[in-house]
Amino acid sequence: MKMGLLQCSCGYAGDEAGFADHLGEVFIPLHDDIGTDGRAHAELAVDCAPAAEGDPGPSDVPAGACLCGFASEDATELDDHLLAVFITADGVGTDGGRHEPDCLSVPATGG
Ligand SMILES: [Zn+2]
Ligand SMILES: [Zn+2]
Repeated sequence: MKMGLLQCSCGYAGDEAGFADHLGEVFIPLHDDIGTDGRAHAELAVDCAPAAEGDPGPSDVPAGACLCGFASEDATELDDHLLAVFITADGVGTDGGRHEPDCLSVPATGG
C-alpha cells in the first residue's frame, strides 16, 4: 500500500485520494460543468433512489460515466478523466490560486 503524501502548491497536503478530491474542488466549477475543451463533463450518476426490493433498477450506466461519452467501469478512472479535462494548463483553479502537486519527500514508514 502506498503511503506517500502529495502536497499542493497552495499548501494542501494529503494522500492520493484526498489530493484528487482537493483538485476536483478547486478545478471543477460549481456553476457549470464545462471543461477546458469546451464540453460538458459531469458524472452521469443514476439516481440513487432506493429501488424496490428485487428491482435492480437501471443498470446500463457504468459506475464511471461522463456526460461527454466517456465511460469506465471504474469510478476512479472517471475522476481521473474529470481532472484531466478541468485542470487548466497553467494550474490556476477556480479560486484564482495555483494548484500544482509538489512531491514531498515523506519518510517511508516501516521501511
Ligand atoms: Zn467527460
Ligand atoms: Zn491546492
